[in-house]
Amino acid sequence: MNIQRPEEECGVFGIFNHPEAANLTYLGLYALQHRGQESCGIVSSDGSALHAHKSMGLVADVFSNQEIFKNLPGRAAIGHVRYSTTGGSAIKNVQPIMVDYSRGSIAVAHNGNIVNAQMIKDELEAYGSIFQTTMDTEIIVHLLATSKASSLLDRLTDALGRIKGAYCLLLITETRMVAARDPHGFRPLCLGKLGESYVVASESCALDLIEAEFIREIEPGEVVFIDKNGITSNFPLKKVAPTPCIFEFVYFARPDSCIFGKNVYQVRKELGRQLAREYAIDADIVIPVPDSGVPAAMGYAEESGIRFELGLIRNHYVGRTFIEPQQSIRHFGVKIKLNPVREVLKDKRVVVIDDSIVRGTTSRKIVKMVRNAGAKEVHVRISSPPTSYPCYYGIDTPNRKELISSSHTVEEIRKYITADSLGYLSRDGLLNAVGTNNTDYCRACFSGDYPIEFPMLKPAPQLPLFDKELPE
Ligand code: AMP
Repeated sequence: MNIQRPEEECGVFGIFNHPEAANLTYLGLYALQHRGQESCGIVSSDGSALHAHKSMGLVADVFSNQEIFKNLPGRAAIGHVRYSTTGGSAIKNVQPIMVDYSRGSIAVAHNGNIVNAQMIKDELEAYGSIFQTTMDTEIIVHLLATSKASSLLDRLTDALGRIKGAYCLLLITETRMVAARDPHGFRPLCLGKLGESYVVASESCALDLIEAEFIREIEPGEVVFIDKNGITSNFPLKKVAPTPCIFEFVYFARPDSCIFGKNVYQVRKELGRQLAREYAIDADIVIPVPDSGVPAAMGYAEESGIRFELGLIRNHYVGRTFIEPQQSIRHFGVKIKLNPVREVLKDKRVVVIDDSIVRGTTSRKIVKMVRNAGAKEVHVRISSPPTSYPCYYGIDTPNRKELISSSHTVEEIRKYITADSLGYLSRDGLLNAVGTNNTDYCRACFSGDYPIEFPMLKPAPQLPLFDKELPE
């Protein structure tokens, strides 16, 4: 069985030394729900054994009654939310992964993507390892179990020394919690404190919800051990120049979070201001595609002096499992999620702001919707550069062929989405707006410059030529 293609968008949360560890982990996962909606799980430790509850579905549905928490006893817990493609086999891939091995029990939750997973897996299988999931995360468990080293830190160092790619890991044993971030620091991970308890979370918004104090980010390459004696920090791996993911700022992280030393909302607003400087237009109103386009639209409106309005209203209760009627009324598409406010849009020259165009199908529907609602002109502005290359480090992007800007010019895309004009933020503009602070962000999705080569799928030049046909 092959490892699935990289598609892990995930969130992790853990707490050590709290009487309501599982309950607080549930709340933490609730705050991280935007990082993954397909499945979730919690593993707790009561000091001598691990206990798990995990399933497909949203956090509030999977942990829907108090009985579940009675089966998650103990003062430590880790949790995971996962996004991936649907499919019958998905249930076995729900995290955290828990195993019993010769040295006890261990559970692992992982955000990111290990790029040399298939190679290591083939090797481990050749030596007799039997894999139960199709997740790259399981490799870490096998490497830990097969390491000859005696301490957990040494076994983990062995394991992490073998894997390449993006990972924020949370591990729990009967007596310890461990947090690790890959040397490139692709994904965010932060450390907090709640009274005498330590908390680790993908994003600071999860600390806010449980009123934990933000202490600091877990550093790229850092492995933090938390046990009854407190916290110890280790840097067992070779140092490299960090390359945190710039797309976390553009789309993925929540605006109220602080990641990589910056508040996401402020960065997004600055992206909008920069966009207004690069692509000014005479218009009557600026509207966001909610929710991800809102801060950038506010920035664009402020900088351009064009009035900000809400011309599209989002239904927040649309789940991933929404079932459309089969026959009579078809193709609700984006209408399920967004509805135009005709009174705002009628006879207006409208600037529509979104954070990114991936396949182009959403923008096309939105432009039609805004025009049908009476807009005189529709100008689309995107608060990031064209997304032309797939992500191999943990953001779920389609393969290169499906990324509209990999094979089409801005003018071709403008025609396809039927906008009167289209402007993307420039690559320099993106960097200026984020502010580098000597950080070399991973921008592979925009530039094709991959900080770690993907061993099986080589970057752009090796990929097949793209067909020029646009989706309907
Ligand atoms: P598309 O129709 O494929 O062009 O989708 C564009 C929309 O998807 C934009 O409104 C983005 O906010 C959103 N988006 C961008 N990146 C992702 C991602 N990795 N996963 C899910 N949605 C995304």
